This record gives sequence, C-alpha cells and structure tokens, in this order.
Amino acid sequence: MLNEEQYDCAIIGGGVSGLCLSILLARSGRKVILFEKNSYPFNKVCGEYISNESYDFLVRLGLPLDEWDLPRINTLVVNSQKGFSLNAKLPLGGFGLSRYLLDYEMSHLARRNGVCVMEQTKVYNVDYNCVFTNNGRYNTKLCVGAFGKASPVFASEKKNTNNKSNFVAVKYHIKTDLPSNKIELNLFKNGYCGLSQVERYKFCLCYIANAKDLRYYGGNIAALEENVLMKNPRLNAVFRNSEFVNEGPVTISNVKFGERTLTNDKLIYLGDAAGCISPLTGNGISMAAHASYILSGYIESFLNNEKSLSKTRYDYQVAWRATFLKRIQNGKRIQKLSGLTGLSHLLLKVLNSFEGLKSSIISNTHGHPF
Ligand SMILES: Cc1cc2nc3c(=O)[nH]c(=O)nc-3n(C[C@H](O)[C@H](O)[C@H](O)COP(=O)(O)OP(=O)(O)OC[C@H]3O[C@@H](n4cnc5c(N)ncnc54)[C@H](O)[C@@H]3O)c2cc1C
Repeated sequence: MLNEEQYDCAIIGGGVSGLCLSILLARSGRKVILFEKNSYPFNKVCGEYISNESYDFLVRLGLPLDEWDLPRINTLVVNSQKGFSLNAKLPLGGFGLSRYLLDYEMSHLARRNGVCVMEQTKVYNVDYNCVFTNNGRYNTKLCVGAFGKASPVFASEKKNTNNKSNFVAVKYHIKTDLPSNKIELNLFKNGYCGLSQVERYKFCLCYIANAKDLRYYGGNIAALEENVLMKNPRLNAVFRNSEFVNEGPVTISNVKFGERTLTNDKLIYLGDAAGCISPLTGNGISMAAHASYILSGYIESFLNNEKSLSKTRYDYQVAWRATFLKRIQNGKRIQKLSGLTGLSHLLLKVLNSFEGLKSSIISNTHGHPF
C-alpha cells in the first residue's frame, strides 16, 4: 500500500537518536515520520547512565527531567577482578534513567510535536525517496537510518569489517545497596559490568562479555555469570545478594564498536548506526542526542534549499568525525586493556595514585554540553 503523503524526513528507528532528531525537525515545522519496529515502552540493553553533557539539551527538547527525581551520579568506582577499587570523581557527572522510561516519554513528546510515530513498523527496504515497511510504502525527501547496532540487509554497507571482536551484552534491573551517586564498573575476564541507579530506586546491572566466552558455556548465561563474572568478588556479592526485579535478562549479541557508515546514496546514518562507542568509556546516549542536534541543522539547510543533498551529507560526515571519532577510538583502546585481568588490576592501582591522569582519561572519553 502506498501512502500518498510526502514527508520531509523519514527516520528508521525510534531510539534516542531517531526520536531526538524527529522532535527537533517537527518543532521547526517539518513533516516527519518515524518507524519503530517495537511498541513503546520496551526494555533495551543499556547501562542507563546518561552523561550530563545532554541534560540541558534533553530538558530543552521538552523532557521534564527535573521533575522525575532521578539519581545524580558523580563518582566512578572501578573494581578489578582481584578486588582492587579505583575511585574517581566524574567531572561532569550524569544521571540514571531507564531506557524503558526515556524512550517511552520521548515517543510521547515526538507525537505531541507532530511526528507521525509508527510503532510495530519494521523497515525492510529503502529506495531513494521511498521507504518500504510491513505497514506500506512511504514517500520522503530524505531518509535517516537510526536503527542502532542492528545491520539491516538494506543498509549492509559497513566499514568496520576488520573489527573481529564480538561481544554479547546482558541487562537486568535489580534492587541492591549502592549509593545513588555512584556508578560501578566491575571488571572480569574479557568484559565488564556496570551498576548504577535509575528511577524508582531500581538499579541497572548491565554487562558486556566476549561472545566466545558465552559459546564456551554453551550459550548458557547463568553459567557464564557463575564461572566468569562472579570471579570478581564484588560481582559475586551483587549477584548473590540482590533482588532481580525483571523476569529475565534482556540480551543482545553481535555488539561491535567503531565508526560504521555515515552516509550513502539512500541514507544518512545516525546514532549507533553511524558509530558505536564502547560503553566502558561510553556516553552513547549523549552522543546519539548530540549527533541528532548536529544533523538537524544540516537537514534544515537542505530542506530550505540552501544546500544540495550531497553537500549536506559531506558536511555532516566532516562534523560527525570532528566531534566523535577521537572519543570512539579512545574508547576502543581502553576497552581492550580492561579485559586483561592482571594488567587492568595493575593499571588501576597505578592510576589511583594520579588524580590528574584519572580525570584526564575520563575527560578524554566524554564530550561537552551542547
Ligand atoms: C551493553 C551496553 C551498555 C550501554 N550503556 C550505556 C550507558 O550506560 N550510557 C550511555 O550513554 N550509552 C550506553 N550504551 C550505548 C547506547 O545504548 C547507544 O549508544 C544508544 O542507545 C544509541 O541510540 P540509537 O538511537 O542510535 O540506537 P537504539 O537506541 O538502539 O535505537 C534503535 C532503534 O531502531 C529500531 N530498529 C532497528 N531496526 C529497525 C527497522 N528495520 N525498522 C524499524 N525500527 C528498527 C530498534 O528497535 C531501536 O528501538 C550502551 C550500549 C551497550 C551495548
């Protein structure tokens, strides 16, 4: 079925990046359609720590964050597998908010701003000015791929084919006993597990492990946790003494980090679809929001006929790389070191005595408010 409407912009994927962009464009009077294959609200694998670099932006967008009594996080604790703890102040800090609530509230905000939000709508092809979904075809002047880490067949052109590391990620909501101002990173062999508070006194426990370690345990997540994660004494205590409040873990596989494709003839890529940062150094949510902010300006110029499409794509690529590439590369390096049990233990011990070095590493992996 062909929908006769002509949209200014079609956005594939209703996560942070797609929703932010849709709201920005709709607020300046553009006709925007957004396709999300799931129905809100739904759980997502994510550590749910959001750097303050995007706090003001999200409030300006219309999210009443100040009213939600969210945990404000200003201290990082990194626990090595051998039981050493590094403590560091987070210069900018952040807050905890579940993706269940964040994406849900943003989808409402998008609708209130006039975005046509199509839930339960999976895009299966894009052909220049036409988007094909399980709910029909839609015409658009421009199409943005904000489909996250997924690699849909219609967007299979990717850059990081030499990226051999492959991770699995698992998330739970739990009740436990960590102060609300702290975020913990607990290291284990070939992976790490974040723990921090979100809304309503729940905690998000989210870890990344090497896919080959999960395969070694026959794909059994409980066995991986028992035999690999719980070798870290802090994780052992958390897994044994916490109440797990959701029915089971939310999981994703095939997680890779690095720059991906930024644009091609049919799509402009946004958020994790353009490039994923390791959550260890992470702020993927803030990066997704920031990239939407940058892209919205270029799309506006294109829709105002101030720039051709090819110039729009080019300028976006230049701005994206200048803003994010260094952070992504730093993140990949630190991610590699963290998985080496003995070395990471030693490095934490050394780092702990150098306040300046600690805060410089943290600052190098974070951005600035926008
Ligand atoms: C284990 C882990 C922990 C993380 N922890 C943090 C953290 O604590 N803090 C932080 O800032 N960042 C974190 N991140 C990164 C963060 O989750 C991402 O950077 C962020 O979600 C990117 O947003 P996005 O909009 O690009 O993608 P997503 O939020 O993944 O949204 C993409 C959307 O597209 C939809 N979709 C996909 N394909 C289609 C299709 N064909 N048709 C229609 N819809 C489609 C999906 O259903 C999804 O809703 C973490 C990442 C991982 C893997």
